[in-house]
Amino acid sequence: MGKTEGQLDVLGHRFDQSPTPAIFVGPNQQFMLDEIEPRVTKMIEGAATLRKKAAHGKGSRQFRKVIGGVPLRLIWAGSATQLSGSGAGLVLIDELDRMLGNVSGEGNPLGLAKARGHTFRDRKYGVTSSPKLGVVDCYVCPLSGLTFWTVMPPEDIESPIWQLFQTGTMHHWAWPCLQCETFFIPRFANLKWPDGATATSARRDAYVECPHCGGIAVDADKAEMNARGRYVAPGQRVDSDGTVHGAAADSHVVTFWVSGLASPFVSFGERASDYIEAKASGDQSKLQTVMNTGFGELFSPGGGEVPEWHEVAALRRPYRSLTVPDGVKVLTLAVDVQTTCLYYTIRGWGAHGTSWKIEAGQLMGRTTDTDVWDQLALLVTRPIGDLSIRLTFIDSGFRPGKPFSLPVNRIYQFCRRFPRRVYPTKGRASQDKPIILGKPDVNRKAEVAKYGLDLLWLDTDWCKSWVHERLRWEADAPGAWYLPEDTTDDYCKQIVSEARIKKPGSSQPTWVPRSRNNHFLDCEGLQAAMAHQLRVDLLRGDPAVVADAPRASKRAAVAKSPVKAATPVPSSPAVPARAGTAFATAASAQAKTSAPAKPAPAARAERRARLAALTNRLYGP
Ligand SMILES: [Zn+2]
Repeated sequence: MGKTEGQLDVLGHRFDQSPTPAIFVGPNQQFMLDEIEPRVTKMIEGAATLRKKAAHGKGSRQFRKVIGGVPLRLIWAGSATQLSGSGAGLVLIDELDRMLGNVSGEGNPLGLAKARGHTFRDRKYGVTSSPKLGVVDCYVCPLSGLTFWTVMPPEDIESPIWQLFQTGTMHHWAWPCLQCETFFIPRFANLKWPDGATATSARRDAYVECPHCGGIAVDADKAEMNARGRYVAPGQRVDSDGTVHGAAADSHVVTFWVSGLASPFVSFGERASDYIEAKASGDQSKLQTVMNTGFGELFSPGGGEVPEWHEVAALRRPYRSLTVPDGVKVLTLAVDVQTTCLYYTIRGWGAHGTSWKIEAGQLMGRTTDTDVWDQLALLVTRPIGDLSIRLTFIDSGFRPGKPFSLPVNRIYQFCRRFPRRVYPTKGRASQDKPIILGKPDVNRKAEVAKYGLDLLWLDTDWCKSWVHERLRWEADAPGAWYLPEDTTDDYCKQIVSEARIKKPGSSQPTWVPRSRNNHFLDCEGLQAAMAHQLRVDLLRGDPAVVADAPRASKRAAVAKSPVKAATPVPSSPAVPARAGTAFATAASAQAKTSAPAKPAPAARAERRARLAALTNRLYGP
């Protein structure tokens, strides 16, 4: 609780030196009653100068202290009325991250509390908190050699205090290593314990390791390291004698981060022990508490078990978007519907279900209007290289937390334009099979029944797990999952925007957000479902290497062989597919060994004619 002490120091100092009306804001009434009020009282009673000024019984109440005639009010974030009361020249906020994001719909507590100072010229604000959820990286600053927290896109950070920290100078508390005399910033990553340590043994054996020399710091060193410690911000460096050089970022907000490891009240061993215990419990909320309040670090659900975006980025291969790598036999399109746009990915599938992202993008336009759907129609019908899109899934499901309702009728209307090629889907947390065939339940008129529109229920846990499994596929083994070299970092981050968490006592895993944008993960989940639907795992390589018979005759044989749906889900979506593509199933095993990968020119012409005919049929000549 060092940060609350810091707030009280500021408060006491101000009331002693130049009193101004002040408010102290906590997360709730209980917190103020248990944590703050007794400490404020103790502070006033403990300091002679304040005690003299404090008006006992005169206007002082439990949550309203009067010191030298100037009020100090203790309020909490639960009530907008409280927060929007009279003004104050000093506004202190503690445990910002524990406050509700929105107090009775009147805005965030920080904004409301800040508004209290607007009538005071020389107003000051102080905000402290343990952080909560977010994904954050570190980087080694070339100037200072110190490892700072990276400034992340605000949408990747759920924690209000961390967002605020990023907008300021970002001072980090640094320690000198007592062995090499070089400063480092202590954080969880520097806390070590012997392999296989238990919560009990780690309590005894944990230590902090210097990132420069590997030197070991134990609890007995902490007092000296804190005494010689310095706040250092990006842009600054610190000499081994503790002299800080350079200027921090020019900001009217001065921000500080201190690791829980620096706390004089809790030993390294206790911190390590708490972590090991929480980890062993399998309870993510316990782990979160340890990371947030124990170390003062952001918590990202799943921790190291969830792939990080760098792992996604490592799947980039030397080909460009919208080019079709050799080996791709089938294209599929996945669409995630938002209010003002559609997100989509196109993926190409080859032997053993190896896949290549062909494109990821966004079509802009209100999805209640027709324009964006016309754009999508072009995407559905646009050939890429030699191939056209075989199957499209559009997510028409509502998701908890989705702040808008989807234009479900527009989605169904669109799907009806492309029977057996484009399907609406809805996600379920889990079900017996990855895909279950259903009927749309939203049905203004009898139209849906009339057109026989199928709705596919998808097991979202299965779909997203499939994607994350592929991220850690053995490098370049059959079934690998590739990205073009021009894939954006944003795409990579979205793919790991959710983590699969098993809550203790619950058999059902849940997917929890780690950062806000998850559209491309949703799209790739739909791709996984299409891979299952089309049984791409049964696709086999180019037979040209197996036999040298003329391709044309083989293709003819393939074209005649029956193409069957591999799963009992809707009728095979193989309709306007290219002539040469055989979907291997158990029943057509013969076909699969002889399916040519690329059709000859004659076949291409034939397919083009078929596509033209299809386009005419769909849109008119
Ligand atoms: Zn060292």
